[in-house]
Amino acid sequence: SASVRLDRLLANLGYGSRREIQALAHGGAIRLNGAVLGEADRRIAVTPDLPERMTVRGEPVDPPPGLVLMLHKPLGATCSHKEAGPLVYGLLPERWRRRDPALSTVGRLDKDTSGLLLLTDDGALLHRIIAPKAKVTKRYRVVLARPLRGDEAEVFASGTLMLDGEDKPLLPAALTVEDSRRASLVLGEGRYHQVRRMFAALGNHVEALHRDRVGGLDLPGDLGPGQFRRLGPDEVARIF
Ligand code: URA
Repeated sequence: SASVRLDRLLANLGYGSRREIQALAHGGAIRLNGAVLGEADRRIAVTPDLPERMTVRGEPVDPPPGLVLMLHKPLGATCSHKEAGPLVYGLLPERWRRRDPALSTVGRLDKDTSGLLLLTDDGALLHRIIAPKAKVTKRYRVVLARPLRGDEAEVFASGTLMLDGEDKPLLPAALTVEDSRRASLVLGEGRYHQVRRMFAALGNHVEALHRDRVGGLDLPGDLGPGQFRRLGPDEVARIF
């Protein structure tokens, strides 16, 4: 497995500059398998179980690169630095925002959309999830301003709906109606403001939008808005 110098490893995990890591090591704050690592130029094998072997100031070290998180995105948080408002990254521990490679969102949710948002520092995984050929579906729960007309499911399933300003029809999408103003919609693609624009194209207006599923992965009921947790390999596999 890959090995890396201790000072670089911890600097990349956000623990400070390489000089600061050296000072930590000299101060006896870093241990590997219980034994003090007094020198920061030691090479360390970077394996997923690193937090079980290494401690910094007595706490398990943060997980090495290859991190996948699920976040229950709250309303009002943005996925983009270009939008005004607090970023979803602000919901993560401070040190995690200084990691290199950085964590980034897997696609985006609008500021006014809540629900399941994945984050990862694994660029290859990110592209595998968002690549059109991967066909990772997303499910949205929608609350509408006006009652459904009745033909929405058929129009969305047809693969012929054209959004304003676009030249390619949408892929077929599956609408499940719950009541006159509530439905869930499964998409196989993710265009800008897609769900909102789909209902706008049929004369309705989305009042509330929440994503509760990505691929085969559901937002757990016990993960509240603003909360996140790491995904294990089995959960990552369920995305596909
Ligand atoms: N469709 C939207 O309109 N907004 C989202 O955030 C996701 C899908």
